[in-house]
Amino acid sequence: MYKYNNFYKKNFIFKIIENDIKNKKYNLICTRFPPEPNGYLHIGHIKSICLNFSIAKFYKGKFFLRIDDTNPTTENIKYIKSIKKDLIWLGFKWDKNVKYTSDYFDLMYKYAIELIKNNLAYVDELDIKEIKKYRGTLLVPGKNSPYRNRLIKDNLKLFEKMRLGKFPEGSLSLRAKIDMTSKIIVMRDPVLYRIKFQYHHQTNKKWCIYPTYDFSHCISDAIEGITHSLCTLEFQDNKILYNWILNNISIKNHPKQYEFSKLNIEYGITSKRNISILIKNKIVSGWDDPRLLTISGLRRKGYTSSSLKNFCYNIGVTKQNNIIEMSFLESCIKSELNQLVPRTMAIIRPLKIIIDNFPLKKKIKLLIPNHPNNKDMGYKNIYFTKEIYIDVLDFSEIDQKNYKRLILGSKVKLRYAFVIKAKKIIKDKNNNIVCIHCIYYQDSLGKKINKKKIKGIIHWISCLYSKPAKFYLYDNLFTKKDINNNDNILKFLNKKSLLIYNGFIEKNLLKNSKNKRFQFEREGYFYFDKYYSNTNEIIFNRILSLKKNDK
Ligand code: ATP
Ligand code: MG
Repeated sequence: MYKYNNFYKKNFIFKIIENDIKNKKYNLICTRFPPEPNGYLHIGHIKSICLNFSIAKFYKGKFFLRIDDTNPTTENIKYIKSIKKDLIWLGFKWDKNVKYTSDYFDLMYKYAIELIKNNLAYVDELDIKEIKKYRGTLLVPGKNSPYRNRLIKDNLKLFEKMRLGKFPEGSLSLRAKIDMTSKIIVMRDPVLYRIKFQYHHQTNKKWCIYPTYDFSHCISDAIEGITHSLCTLEFQDNKILYNWILNNISIKNHPKQYEFSKLNIEYGITSKRNISILIKNKIVSGWDDPRLLTISGLRRKGYTSSSLKNFCYNIGVTKQNNIIEMSFLESCIKSELNQLVPRTMAIIRPLKIIIDNFPLKKKIKLLIPNHPNNKDMGYKNIYFTKEIYIDVLDFSEIDQKNYKRLILGSKVKLRYAFVIKAKKIIKDKNNNIVCIHCIYYQDSLGKKINKKKIKGIIHWISCLYSKPAKFYLYDNLFTKKDINNNDNILKFLNKKSLLIYNGFIEKNLLKNSKNKRFQFEREGYFYFDKYYSNTNEIIFNRILSLKKNDK
């Protein structure tokens, strides 16, 4: 279960709200999650949703999903669909209909005119490059644009003409008239509107000017009656502008912005921009590649929604930038899988074993538990037959130090079945092993093994009662632990982040089990890839390996 209580206690934002409620500042607490529809959501977004959602739930307030759609050049309706799908899958319900920043474009236009009329905004003719040049730096103050002192009536006319599409893209913009010498660069006459001749997925062709994030975000928050506008630390400086805009237009509500640190995870990236670089360079197969920390990737990999929420409710919310260990994320799914998931045998790298002293047509039924430590999960039958598969890594031609598996001339125990001894190796003309001839010891079934003579127990599967499956074994995408969103991420790729094997699973594994997650003994936890498997190809994604160093 989610450890909500701890989350509430730990969290500095809850303390702020608790105080506000004590001081009767608000009747109804309202929060929102405002994603830009320019990519799929990732685990960092879950942190933000958990925070916003749980506040609204705890204080019986409202939680809105607002699609922040002010930049149609990078947006796509498919991202909106995926955002909704991910939230539903996670079990987060938003209040009433999905909201869109574009719902408020008319009002925003009206507020922009108010600013112009109050001599607090002007139409600038500098282009983007010039605006940047005039802006200055942290050390050098900015310079006023030569168009800054245009008459109000001329600004109104030009802004209207901008809206009517009379000027080319990039030629004019509407800027707030604040202070080009401000220590806070965001306050150096920020752009409020820019021209974009771009079809918009919600407003179609209605607009050819679009508000910027800074202008639209605070107004959207205020229109919706958001009480606590929570965002990540990079918007700290923007807060002054957020307040400036709301203080200078005739809007009633004035939400308060609070910042918290972004979620970063070792060896992973949480930035849509960087994820799309990986997709463009075909490093990963798409937004739902299980190596990514996207919600769709983690879902495909086999993470449950509860494990992801548990993770986010337990990392806490602070103002310190930090990086969470990958092993903590893994431990959240592991504790669930350990209890709930049936165990079975599958062979990832098959090596055929022929039991010479076992009759061809014979089969022996073996009753085995679905979970060795939880008998309540029941039992099932498997079959022992003349031909079986073991894992290539469980056989060695020569004796090796500490090798506890099958060696030519020696014995090993097959899990839940017999002791076998390797007699002969058959190789092809390229010296590759084709199969191993063994003998089995009929009376070894169900008996304790003599550990001096038989060192190991290995897993196996009957050739006759198995079917082919592909196993996707994932590892970290990057070799660098604290990969930064500003790094050249392509420099730190782990070339072995995906290994694909053609092996075997029990013939009726999927038919007989409602569960689609399994522990394949000695290999790890796997999830049936229902999204990419088909009748000809069964795919299993590895959620977690069992061995710490098996990477
Ligand atoms: P990205 O860099 O991945 O595009 P973003 O902040 O631009 O992230 P948005 O779609 O604008 O993505 O984010 C929606 C909300 O999610 C914002 O309030 C943002 O602050 C929050 N958010 C984004 N990334 C993280 C993260 N890593 N940890 C916590 N919250 C995040
Ligand atoms: Mg963004």
